[in-house]
Amino acid sequence: MTHVNVHPLVSPWGRFGLYSFFIDAPEPAIVDTGIGSSPAEGMVPALEAIGRRIEDVRWILLTHGHIDHVGGAHALWELTGRRAQVVIHEADVAMLRSRRAHVDEYLHGRAQYLNDPEGEAMVTAAADAAISGEMEPTVLLKGGETLSLGGDVTVSVHPIPGHTPGSVAYVIDGQGSVFVGDAVQVHGAANGFPGYVDPVAYRASLRYLRDEIRPQHLYLGHPYRRADGMPYGVELDADQARDALQGSLDIEAGVSEAALGCLRDGLRETDSPYSPFAPVAEGLGYTGDPTLEPSPFFTSMHGYRTHFSQNS
Ligand SMILES: [Zn+2]
Repeated sequence: MTHVNVHPLVSPWGRFGLYSFFIDAPEPAIVDTGIGSSPAEGMVPALEAIGRRIEDVRWILLTHGHIDHVGGAHALWELTGRRAQVVIHEADVAMLRSRRAHVDEYLHGRAQYLNDPEGEAMVTAAADAAISGEMEPTVLLKGGETLSLGGDVTVSVHPIPGHTPGSVAYVIDGQGSVFVGDAVQVHGAANGFPGYVDPVAYRASLRYLRDEIRPQHLYLGHPYRRADGMPYGVELDADQARDALQGSLDIEAGVSEAALGCLRDGLRETDSPYSPFAPVAEGLGYTGDPTLEPSPFFTSMHGYRTHFSQNS
């Protein structure tokens, strides 16, 4: 089986670096697309530097529907002469089809705790600015598919819901190269808290990755930090991947214990910025700003609350 090289492509965005990955297959692929400006500003020069051309890209593989992963999809598709296949899971496709879906996701989840009268307008403006175009995918995933990238290079698709309902892992078959987007959160990226809409699915997906997929090379959507503050980077070897997966499970277990305890005691509104989950932040020693978008603290707390209320 042919070994294919993987190159990270970095595009700047505010506090973040946005990471996409180029799979140097006979039919080249790019995993995740950053925001609207990323293809022209980040990917084109990065590909030129390795002697590749963006117009030759034939696959746009989206790990999930978040704005900083799908925002550049339309712009990248245009740069390929509309010849690339655009691939996303059906559970996240609304976020590729519609900017408004990002606002709806905000309003139905974290907005309930942020009490920000400008929030809806800000998320609307962010979606307008960051998303290069609303579009239909050409391949709608359910999970279990195998995509041919030419020659004998294939990529298999594994659903790993939790961070979002439609998160998937793309695995280059035979070499254990695994792209997971944001499905492995460890401590979370910039905000220092792991973000997932469904904690139970998140846990199951981490176990599946650890026990069944067992990545030889794990590619993350953001450079997550270890407990000691050291960033992992975005390209992990097999040992680092195991560490990151186990670490993510351990951290979720701690968050879960704190969240369920808080829910059992009953939620109370207070002046705390973490209200009504102040005991969770206190119990975990979390001191990050819970209001900074994308507010993973409140996204995850809402996930526990939803699950708890369904099961109690
Ligand atoms: Zn995400």
